[in-house]
Amino acid sequence: MTNGYIKEAENIIARLHKLARNIWWTWTPRAQDIFLELAEQKWHTSNHNAVAVLNSTSDQELRARLCDRDFAERVVKVLDEFDYYMSREDTWCTKHAPELFENPVAYFSMEFGLHECLPIYSGGLGVLAGDHTKSASDLGVPLYGVSLFYRYGYFKQSIQPDGWQQESYPSINPGEIPVELVVDESGEPVTAEVEIAHNTVTFHAWRINVGRVTIYLLDTDRAENELHHRDITAHVYGGDSTTRIMQEIVLGIGGVRFLRKIGVEPGVFHMNEGHPAFLTLELLRENIKGGKSREEAEAWVKNHCVFTTHTPVPAGHDRFSRDMMEYIMAGFLKSLDMNLSEIMPLGRVNPDDPEEPFCMTVLALKLSRAANGVSELHGRVSREMWKDVFNVDSPDKVPIGHVTNGVHSLGWMTNRTRDFWQRHLGSKWIYYLKNPIIWEQVSDPELISDEEIWAFRYALRRDLIEFVRRKLKSYYQKQGTDFHQVADKILSPDVLTIGFARRFATYKRAPLIFRFFDEVLSLFTDDKRPIQIIFAGKAHPRDDAGKRYIQEIVGYAKNPLLFGKVVFLENYDINIARHMISGVDVWLNTPRRPLEASGTSGMKISVHGGINCSILDGWWREGYDGTNGFAIGDDGGVEEPEKQDEIDAANLLKVLKEHVIPEFYDRDETGIPRRWIQRMRRSMTSLIPMFNTDRMVSDYVLKYYLDR
Ligand SMILES: *Cc1c(COP(=O)(O)O)cnc(C)c1O
Repeated sequence: MTNGYIKEAENIIARLHKLARNIWWTWTPRAQDIFLELAEQKWHTSNHNAVAVLNSTSDQELRARLCDRDFAERVVKVLDEFDYYMSREDTWCTKHAPELFENPVAYFSMEFGLHECLPIYSGGLGVLAGDHTKSASDLGVPLYGVSLFYRYGYFKQSIQPDGWQQESYPSINPGEIPVELVVDESGEPVTAEVEIAHNTVTFHAWRINVGRVTIYLLDTDRAENELHHRDITAHVYGGDSTTRIMQEIVLGIGGVRFLRKIGVEPGVFHMNEGHPAFLTLELLRENIKGGKSREEAEAWVKNHCVFTTHTPVPAGHDRFSRDMMEYIMAGFLKSLDMNLSEIMPLGRVNPDDPEEPFCMTVLALKLSRAANGVSELHGRVSREMWKDVFNVDSPDKVPIGHVTNGVHSLGWMTNRTRDFWQRHLGSKWIYYLKNPIIWEQVSDPELISDEEIWAFRYALRRDLIEFVRRKLKSYYQKQGTDFHQVADKILSPDVLTIGFARRFATYKRAPLIFRFFDEVLSLFTDDKRPIQIIFAGKAHPRDDAGKRYIQEIVGYAKNPLLFGKVVFLENYDINIARHMISGVDVWLNTPRRPLEASGTSGMKISVHGGINCSILDGWWREGYDGTNGFAIGDDGGVEEPEKQDEIDAANLLKVLKEHVIPEFYDRDETGIPRRWIQRMRRSMTSLIPMFNTDRMVSDYVLKYYLDR
């Protein structure tokens, strides 16, 4: 080999390592194909992790593999595409919000759901934050994410033979995932400190590169910390309320200090949910130390913060007792020369009520220049819910608006789906995901025929069913059952396939469809027009009611009458989500209204031709237009939840029997469901351009980040 060649190979290898540590590859199928081709089994066993693949591939092997000209060409093409993506200057942001380049956005979130190989999220809030950063990168918005590094992540779920959820916490090896330690010029970790009670806790940080965006994950697992402080950041939402408040101090106060340490000067601090709201207190401290009066300091903080609230469920808002605050905040308050009675009112609806605990949402509302809910309906519910925080006589005057959530469409597409749109929409479509004109083309049967759409749907349904069979095979092997005897009985590629996957919070009512059992049984077992359903989801480790829901559904899946027609997949994660949302015909959503602030899983299905069937709550309240999916019930509601469950269950059966099933099975002589495909087209043209994070992030930029 010549020197020139070796140098070139070394250069490609260095660039490959850099690529693996930028999760841009998670929404770039051609980049994933490279890692898959390098080490197929490792790719699958590592949960599709490019860093793990490269760790298992020696430089010697890489040099040899790159001698394959065809492979080397594809690698270089991806690397060039990556370099182009990273250095592009003609982005949406340069055009619409160039001011942000002077002072970037800091986006604080307790969790980020980015990819299945990074288990540092628990559910929708994290996935939303992850999708937010990916779109910020695609749009060229200068943004820094801040969160915690959870060494044991969120738990892994397994289902015991009796259907009970069991949790385990495998530890994460940072050397094996796409993160990098943040170090200074001499290679030492950059550290910062927070005061917790009377102690000082030191932390370092890990960086995740999300395209052009950086997320910092703070980590207290350091030798100089006391043992119980090393564990502050061990688990996602782990421990009791003491752990929670300590995590929130590290996130909010520590996060600001860390950004200062590395020289990031944000123009706006975005609090994703109330968890990071202590950041306002740190900003207050900085300003008071800088010589401002308390009033001036508060005004400065208020002018630099924005806040998004995510839930109307009262228990979803962190509240800490006065005693807890007194104890945990002691060191911090000392550094601020303040006593607790000067701070408590900021976290109370009624500042003068000594009994009222300290609420993080109230703190965030009081110290932000703008606040928003995550759907039109949730904005309205939040104005009512928090009207007492503001001295106004009507909820309409409460300064809480809304930005409806979205999903990062590219990241949720399977390769098959991406190829489909590439074939039909031309090469530039990925830059115009939020442009209704691009998607309006889908209504044109000349451009895409019913036959092509139906072929696409059949292929995606088949992909999902084979995925489910592979998953269940390993489940049965674990349980010692011979899978081969039952394999072909599990799901049918010709049957209307419904999906339900999300956290098993009880308000989401996973078992609602089974409420009138005999009636729904007749739908599953119909000879000509049957249905089948796939479930997945985790219950919070301390939520026994949620675990009972899982157990109930696992029971149906084992019931001989329903066997193979109802399935439950264990250990729901982003990978299972991606398979489910792409393969199902119908996505079922049955929250107790109005508790689903937005919901995002239903938004993921439209690019794949799935159809939503949902209670008119959250995003679906504004997404549904009568032609682009199905509504369960209407806007009405009764007081008692039990009664409402019964009404909603009856309405669900009604819409399945009268609309969903007949329309899906209404075929012409060539076997094509024309009316169903018409509804798919309506779903695609109306929902895809609206309910995506490109639209959402641009709304945040124009309405909230820019202080114009
Ligand atoms: C999208 C997603 C969610 C959010 O689902 P909702 O129906 O909005 O609650 C939760 N978990 C995972 C893994 C997801 O991909």
